Amino acid sequence: GHLPEPDAVAGLVQAAWERYRPVTEGMVADYIPALAAASPDWFGLCVAGINGATHAAGEADRPFSIQSISKPFVFALVCQALGGGRARESIGVNATGLAFNSVMAIELNAGHTMNPMVNAGAIATTSLVPGRSHAEKWRFLLDGLSSFAGRSLAMDEEVYASEAATNQRNQGIARLLHGYGRMYCDPDEATDLYTRQCAVSVTARDLAVMGATLADGGVNPVTRERVLDADRCRRVLAVMATAGLYEQSGDWLYEIGLPGKSGVAGGIVTIAPGKGGLGIFSPPLDEAGNSVRGQLATRFLSERLGLNLFASA
Ligand code: GLN
Repeated sequence: GHLPEPDAVAGLVQAAWERYRPVTEGMVADYIPALAAASPDWFGLCVAGINGATHAAGEADRPFSIQSISKPFVFALVCQALGGGRARESIGVNATGLAFNSVMAIELNAGHTMNPMVNAGAIATTSLVPGRSHAEKWRFLLDGLSSFAGRSLAMDEEVYASEAATNQRNQGIARLLHGYGRMYCDPDEATDLYTRQCAVSVTARDLAVMGATLADGGVNPVTRERVLDADRCRRVLAVMATAGLYEQSGDWLYEIGLPGKSGVAGGIVTIAPGKGGLGIFSPPLDEAGNSVRGQLATRFLSERLGLNLFASA
């Protein structure tokens, strides 16, 4: 199936925005100091079909840092470069059921491998990025993320500097993984590249196009570039379903029935395979670090657009 008719999608996107705009729950993240400046009122959403058509409401073009939503796309780029089998052995794909920055997850998981949607697995993923120098690896990341968005993305220097000065916990995670033989380049280099990828600036519209690329087996619907092979694309959606919303991934799948990924700046990307992508931006977060309005609006649109993967009709 496809998305409903364009007018119906546009109407529902607008309805979701109006319905959840008054919500006041959630707290803007402040553990990365630069994120604390975000307004709790910012709210934008966008649906992109696999034909490239977009339907937006609210502040769909306001830039924010991608944060953890970089994880599935960087995992995709590493799978594309190394193969899905190698990625699974080196990184791991099981759910952690724990917070995004959990150190216990590293201790408890067999072989100390980790799902690429949580920090430990994501830093391990970034440590596999090909390149002979830090600059080459960063180019690979920025070019790859830009291919998913269909435009040249850039890093927000202020967010990067703010997180780099306060990310001792991620540095510790990278070194712990190193101790277990699960870091594949220098741990400090991997943490720096990971911090950079998290500071890349995107909009809800970008997230929708990036999601639609994963919905169409790896082909960007706007540029028609194949960014990822279809067999690898399926793997990316699988890890998103297991841990994309961290310890709330079960609740998310139960309510929404689609692979998704959140970030602490307030973004959420959701993929309806074969149909399209949904990008939402709203900074107030719940306890797990997932956008409150993002979850509500995604549930509404999944239901009204008939996207749940577990529905038989
Ligand atoms: N850069 C953030 C961190 O590593 C990303 C976390 C997130 O978005 N959940 O803490």
